[in-house]
Order: sequence, then structure tokens, then C-alpha cells
Amino acid sequence: MDKPKTCRNYIRGEWLESRSGNVMEVRNPAATDEVLAIFPRSGEEDVAQAVEAASEALPHWRRTPAPKRAEILFRVAQILEERKEFFATEMTREMGKVLKESRGDVQEAIDMAWFMAGEGRRLYGQTTPSELANKFAMSLREPVGVCGMITPWNFPMAIPSWKIFPAMICGNTVVIKPAEDTPLSCYHLIQALAEAGLPRGVVNLVAGVGEEVGAALVNHPGVHLISFTGSTETGRQVSMTCASGMKRCHLEMGGKNVIIILEDANLDLALQGALWGAFGTSGQRCTAASRIVVHNHVYEEFLDRFIGSTEKLRVGNGLDPGTHLGPIINRAQLSKVQQYVQIGLQEGARLVFGGHTLNGPEHAGGIFHEPTIFCEVTPQMRIAQEEIFGPVASVIRCDGLESAIAIGNNVSYGLSASIYTSDIQRAFHAMREMNTGIFYVNAPTIGAEIHLPFGGTKGSGNGHREAGVAALEVYSEWKAVYIDYSGRLQKAQISDYSGFRAGVSRPRRMENL
Ligand code: ADP
Repeated sequence: MDKPKTCRNYIRGEWLESRSGNVMEVRNPAATDEVLAIFPRSGEEDVAQAVEAASEALPHWRRTPAPKRAEILFRVAQILEERKEFFATEMTREMGKVLKESRGDVQEAIDMAWFMAGEGRRLYGQTTPSELANKFAMSLREPVGVCGMITPWNFPMAIPSWKIFPAMICGNTVVIKPAEDTPLSCYHLIQALAEAGLPRGVVNLVAGVGEEVGAALVNHPGVHLISFTGSTETGRQVSMTCASGMKRCHLEMGGKNVIIILEDANLDLALQGALWGAFGTSGQRCTAASRIVVHNHVYEEFLDRFIGSTEKLRVGNGLDPGTHLGPIINRAQLSKVQQYVQIGLQEGARLVFGGHTLNGPEHAGGIFHEPTIFCEVTPQMRIAQEEIFGPVASVIRCDGLESAIAIGNNVSYGLSASIYTSDIQRAFHAMREMNTGIFYVNAPTIGAEIHLPFGGTKGSGNGHREAGVAALEVYSEWKAVYIDYSGRLQKAQISDYSGFRAGVSRPRRMENL
């Protein structure tokens, strides 16, 4: 076992211990004896120092031309590409997901770096005619200010990159608090930024636990914007605190995503999609397909084959190439999964596969749970309504497209949905009717690409979107600019320019052209 790596906060371009000297351990969920890293367990005073650094860096950074800001992101993309394998391996040790998925996580950060670096030469606003003569009108993007970022453990490099890169390109400065289970991947990202030539104070990292560092960041009056990804309960608290402090608040929260399988679906494809959607990342994705709504005509066949294929999935250490499902992130999350299995049984759903933690010799020392399938789940059961965030799939019957859509929509979340059908009309109908921020046809509910907007409706978010150009809306303020070169006072809505206004029958002389 390697010696744990000692990591520090990154504030004003320096690697610092917490002021209190307190530390916290990062452990491998596949082998909890293994301490991967020791991080500062920071407090309010560290947050204050980081916010001060970000505030001081802001004036220079916001005046740095965006294409110059972008050069750092181009270099970061290269550094991440060079170290992809190392970062992915460390991520699997830290977070548990299988190595291929960790590579995908790093790749997302690389893609986001290229994309947002490209935005450095766009950041488009509008030029538009003025209603007045000899007047020029345009809109420009301006940074919001100091951005506080709070990220979860399931995409420990990708999600920080989704927030940091668009914030940077728009000219903001950043203080990020990664999840306490997975600060190492975020630390690697910040190291890459530092190597890429990040000016002092533009991005600061403060490690610690949510109630301490996260809450201090949300409460700090010097922070202008909070971008949060995590649970709906914490998101609600964050949102309320931001409201009273008049901070801009961007929330990405839970999901209860549905795959609809109609009777005309390619069942082989739907089966593969359901396995990947429900059990990829051990179900620990906000877009995981935790509900599978299947048409009565193919329900039995699908269920048999779904169980048969799930039996073949191997649960284990994500570094082992034979593993399909890695561990659960921590014991609290495992206990939540176990509780939902009990709730499903009490509600009368039929447990047809799994349902247990794995403690045998092969799984000793790790936090593992079997992939689990409930069938004959009814739409109102708690296991069909509440987010579990684990490898538990609820299979629900439907008797047609309309009932599937109604079941799909009848939850408090609205993140992602998918339909398997060979009928283009029904696919488009479902696309229009599903109240979600993300929709797939003949693909599972997971697999977002970085240049499209990511986020959800209802309890999944608060109206903002991450990724793509949509992210720029979060991290910039519009400034409308009017330049009057007429040399006289012109009053919008009042000065009469041409005489073409409604009700005026005879054109007047055009003045001042
Ligand atoms: P999960 O249950 O998936 O861990 P959380 O919402 O608890 O989701 O965590 C997401 C992020 O929010 C983490 O970085 C965590 O440290 C942080 N967090 C937790 N509680 C708070 C809080 N009260 N204020 C701010 N951030 C918090």
C-alpha cells in the first residue's frame, strides 16, 4: 500500500495547510483500509482567505482579454490529456467507479477545457439596431465576480471542470470546495491549472466538509455566485442562504430518471441501455435510470432478460478490468441503499435480483452492494419516487405511450428521460411531452455531451443549465450598451424619428441622418 499523499489547499497561488492544522483522510471505497490522501479539514478562516484572494485577483482577471484567458484552458487540456491515465487511476481509487468510466470523467474535463477555451474567441453578444437614428446598440457579457463552487463525489473531476472553466472564461474568479470523499481529483485539476500558468488567486481550492467549508462559502458576503451540485436537501438550504444574501445561485440536484420501453422497441438495444443506465457508476449518477417503464406486451421477456444479464455483472474493485460495478462511495450511502431495499419490500414490490451488500472474501474491506432489481413496482411507491443513488432499478408496467409518459412525469424531479421505440412519431411525441431537461431516443438516460445544456426541471434544478454555451448564462451578466453618435439628446420611446409611427399618415422629413 502506498503512503498517503499529503495535499493542501490552493490559495493565492500557494499550497497551504488549513489555519487550524486539522486534516481529513481520503479512503478507497473498494478497500477502506487504504488511505489515499490527507487533506486539510478547512474552516471559515480558510474560506475567508480564499475569498479575499479571489476578490483581489478579480480586477486584473476580468480585464484580461478572453482569448488570453483561454490560453490557460488550452494548456490545461493538454496537461490533462498527457496525464489522463494517471488521473483516471487515482480517481478509481478515490471514488470507486470502473477505470473506463474514470477515463470518461477525465475526458469530460478535457472536452470542457477545449470547448470553453474556444469560447474565449466567441463569448458572443448581440449587435442590434437602435430605434433611434445614429445610435448603436449591443450587448456584452461581463463576469459576475467571485464564484463559490460546491461539488459532489460522483464526477470528481468532470463536475469541477464544468463549473471552473466557464466561470474562468467569462472573467470570474473562483473558490471551489470539492466533496469530502473525493477532493483528490479536483486537486489534480487545480494542479493542472497551476501548471498551465493560472495567475495567483484566480482559482482557489479549499478542502473540507460541507457543513463547515461549504456553508462558510455560501454565507460569505464576498462571494457573488454559488454553483452547487449535490442532493436536493442541501441544494434547498444553499438556495435559501443565497436568497437572503442576494447571491446568484445555480443548483444541479437529484433525478428519478425513466427509461420507457415500448412494445416495438429493439429489445436487445433496450436491454443494453437499461443495464448501463441503471447500473453504470453503480447507479450513483444523477441521471441514472432508476425507473424502467415497460410495455405489458414485452414486460415479461424484458424482465427475464434483464435479470439474466444482471446476473452476469461483476461487482468489485474498479481497477480490475473484469469489474462492471465498483463500490458504493461510503457507508452512509450504502445504508441509504439498504434502507430503500427494505422500503421496496415493505411496499410490496417484488425483489427479483440482488438486494444485499457483498461481504465475502472477494469483497472484504470494500463497500459493495449487488445490482438490485424490483419488479411489479407501482408508480407511487417510494422506490419509484425517491432518489436512491445506488444500483437499484424499479421495473414498472405500462399499457401504452400515454400511460408511460404519465408515469415518467409523475415525480418531483425532471432531469433525464429516454424512450426505446422504432416508431418516430411516438419518439417525437414523448420528446415533446416529457418534462425533463434531457431526453434520449434509443439510448439510456446517461451520456450527456459537454457542448449541450445539462440540467433538469422541477426538483432537479433551479432553471439554470450547466455545460455548452448555456453555462455562460450562469457565469456572466449581460451589459446592454448604447452609443449615441447623433450629437443630440434622443429619448427612447419618446423622440419621433421618422414619422412612420402608427397613426401618422404623412411621412415627416427625416432628420439627422
Ligand atoms: P451527497 O449526499 O451526494 O453527498 P450533498 O448535497 O451532501 O450530497 O453534498 C454535495 C456537496 O455539498 C458536497 O461537496 C458537500 O460537502 C456539500 N455540502 C454538504 N452540506 C452542505 C451545507 N450545509 N452547505 C454547503 N455545502 C454542503
